[in-house]
Amino acid sequence: MLSGIGRISGTFFNLIFPDDCRLCEQPLTNISRIPVCPACLSLPKPLEAEFFCRACRTPFVDDYPLDEHDLCTVCRESLVNFDTAYSFGSYEGPLRKLIHLFKYGKVETLAQPLSRFLCQALPLDLNFDLVIAMPMHWRKQWERGFNQAELLGRPVAKRYGLSLAANLRRKRYTKAQAGLSELQRRENLKGSFAVKRPEEIAGKRILLIDDVFTTGATLRAAAAALKAARAARVSALTLARVDRRGFERDWTSSGGRRQKVLSAGTGVT
Ligand SMILES: [Zn+2]
Ligand SMILES: [Zn+2]
Repeated sequence: MLSGIGRISGTFFNLIFPDDCRLCEQPLTNISRIPVCPACLSLPKPLEAEFFCRACRTPFVDDYPLDEHDLCTVCRESLVNFDTAYSFGSYEGPLRKLIHLFKYGKVETLAQPLSRFLCQALPLDLNFDLVIAMPMHWRKQWERGFNQAELLGRPVAKRYGLSLAANLRRKRYTKAQAGLSELQRRENLKGSFAVKRPEEIAGKRILLIDDVFTTGATLRAAAAALKAARAARVSALTLARVDRRGFERDWTSSGGRRQKVLSAGTGVT
């Protein structure tokens, strides 16, 4: 009798949710709108680093790329920048898979567990006046069907008793950034953001949210637009960041090419 019920509910369950976990491919045992099992959802771990840039928080193997103010080359050379960049974990492994599933697999229900990671990355004593999600060009958003940064940012804004502020607009349809150098990225992004109602930005502490920190070029361009509108502070918050420490280690271990390693590492961070 009981096993019969089990069988029926199992069949019923499979009917309403035929998927296995999209990460480990084990059958899902709990009814949830999220097609990932709780074990896989708890896999992403916060990024740990002994050496990192004070501003963009890029992790480094040692303190060699940092100056006496603990700034990396990119932050040292950028005239306008965000003030700090917080990020939860490395853009690899389960976190990378979850972000891909969310963004390209269009599993929008992942926004909730993923935004919890975002909140974890923020120091508790920080306060913000405005929370802004990285805007997408309307055409790109129309193609994807949603803006992932908005879905991730809404619960974070709520934590500060705010709703997302729509003061930043993407002006141009920028080319895909992948494969471009830092300089090309900066050129590609020049003038790509516009601030709406700048009087609402002046003097405000702003939290800018995006999914992934790759080179930081997009966040820097958006922060520059906000700073031009006289924002008091711009902090960037992302779920994951590209961690090049493995890459640097590979190069350093090949010996005698340390200079090359650092220019490669700093040129794209
Ligand atoms: Zn799983
Ligand atoms: Zn930096």
